[in-house]
Amino acid sequence: MADHYEVLGVSREASPEEIKKAYRRLARQLHPDVNPSADAEEKFKEVTHAYDVLSDPEQRRRYDMGGDDAFGGGGFGGFGDIFETFFGAAAGGGGRGGRPRSRRERGQDALVRVTLELGDVIFGVHRDIEVDTAVLCETCQGSCCAPGTSPQTCDICHGTGHVQRQVRSLLGNVLTTQPCNVCQGYGTTIPSPCATCAGQGRVRSRRTVGLDIPAGVETGLRLQLPGSGEVGPAGGPNGDLYIEVTVAPNAAFSRDGDDLLATLEVSMTDAILGTETRIESLDGPVDLEIRPGLQSGDVLTIKERGITPLRGSRRGDLRVGVQVVTPTRLDAKQRALIEDFAARTKAPTPKLAEFQQGLFSKLRDRFRSH
Ligand code: ZN
Ligand code: ZN
Repeated sequence: MADHYEVLGVSREASPEEIKKAYRRLARQLHPDVNPSADAEEKFKEVTHAYDVLSDPEQRRRYDMGGDDAFGGGGFGGFGDIFETFFGAAAGGGGRGGRPRSRRERGQDALVRVTLELGDVIFGVHRDIEVDTAVLCETCQGSCCAPGTSPQTCDICHGTGHVQRQVRSLLGNVLTTQPCNVCQGYGTTIPSPCATCAGQGRVRSRRTVGLDIPAGVETGLRLQLPGSGEVGPAGGPNGDLYIEVTVAPNAAFSRDGDDLLATLEVSMTDAILGTETRIESLDGPVDLEIRPGLQSGDVLTIKERGITPLRGSRRGDLRVGVQVVTPTRLDAKQRALIEDFAARTKAPTPKLAEFQQGLFSKLRDRFRSH
């Protein structure tokens, strides 16, 4: 390829103003709408590319250092930009010989929020979800035309979607190309639009989508259903459907990874003597043995009664933190018995230990250290 400076006929020290002037002078002689010869078109591209590079300070600097094709794809990628700089936006669009626009476009994605109970998260759950989006028009099947009719080639642009117009510019009279405003650039018109969808090829509809939500999901998680979003204009491909999950807080159970946490209140006498009890877990009753001498803060672990992880099959555990409940109202007889008990017991005097920030933090700390 010839040297860009030579192509424009300027010196290597030319100012941006000189480069611009040189380009305008050459473009006026060579623009394909002014000079129809094949030679001129090639030359015009070369001149435009040279200007493209040299009018951009960064590209010019790199060109001077010996590079050129390292940017802009090495082709005439800047052609449209330059063209627009001189001819205004009207020269943009598809440019010369561009294709007509397609009526068919991809539909938008849709987002639906669902709220689950913690119990739903243990095994996963099936939900029927109401989705309100555009769906394909059954009357015209996305053709946008009334039954028995079809689109017609636009009389104005003859199906190209573009019209050419002669305008005066600083390069003289030139032809510019712009989208046809009779067919909006589609190249066809719809003489009898489908009455059901008003010629859109789609209608709004509420539908029910059955969805199996996997176990182990968490608040904020988005499930993606490819192709279940709205149908595009004129029967274009569907967007995706996203389901955003919120897990409602549970009065008794909280979640720590795949484990479930709860607190079990145990009476002072049960803690001392031990007992058997039954608790309601999120998936049914569980028998629990309270051994004699149970302490506040002890953790009872019930294996595999936690959450089934999103990936994997072994359920987490249910961890129950014990809180021993001290009786606050004693009748005279009870008080006498406790006093008798105290008299027979060498109770240790109260002593200081590390401050515990409530039972839950104590539990969590224990889980961490395991
Ligand atoms: Zn229709
Ligand atoms: Zn047209």
